[in-house]
Amino acid sequence: MIRGPRLLLLGKQGAGKGTQASLLAEHYGVTHLATGEVLRAAARSGTRFGLEAKRYMDEGELVPDDITVGVVEERFGDNGELEHGFVLDGFPRTAAQAEELARILGEHDLDLVVALEVPTEVVLDRLAGRRVCKDCGAIYHVSAPPEHPWDCDVCGGEVVQRDDDQEDAIKRRLELYEQETQPLIAYYRAQAVLVDIDGVGETEVVFSRLVDAVDGKYERRAGAPA
Ligand code: AMP
Repeated sequence: MIRGPRLLLLGKQGAGKGTQASLLAEHYGVTHLATGEVLRAAARSGTRFGLEAKRYMDEGELVPDDITVGVVEERFGDNGELEHGFVLDGFPRTAAQAEELARILGEHDLDLVVALEVPTEVVLDRLAGRRVCKDCGAIYHVSAPPEHPWDCDVCGGEVVQRDDDQEDAIKRRLELYEQETQPLIAYYRAQAVLVDIDGVGETEVVFSRLVDAVDGKYERRAGAPA
């Protein structure tokens, strides 16, 4: 069986990772794993780890590694994603998490890491206007609401502003991105697995840039002798 690509998206909050990761997962028929989404779902269902994670998320702080690494390990544990391919979004966010990811992946190397580049003034506007479905996580913007505001087009759930899309939390999240996550771009560049993609533009335009990059890199790998 031909496997799908193993992809990782890096980029500031509001760069469009969630939207593009979900489109890529659908396009390639692979799983989309967004740690933020899993943590928000756990917080909504009130599990102990979900409620603990929520305290950090609402402040814009990083959730402790034992929780986030646990989420990724559980998902990649026995569902065949490592074999079949995936799009990972929101993990890793620190050097320590990148090491953990390498351990979890083992021989299943990433095909491509994308650095989705968007200037800070653009992400600030996107984050302030962002609205998400409470139930399925579909993403909207005040300038592009669902057809029947504010019921989700995908599942009919309620579309709301995220608790951490408030000014103070946004500031803190962008600070943490710069300190903790941005250095991972150099880490993956050194492994020759990284590509920079311009994340400014219409969703479909950015998506086609991504597909071109993935097809170029992944087909070369898939066609390479083992
Ligand atoms: P996101 O939806 O990716 O913006 O994530 C929302 C929030 O979830 C973040 O601000 C963190 O509080 C938490 N979170 C998600 N992924 C991670 C991670 N890999 N490490 C630590 N915290 C995370």
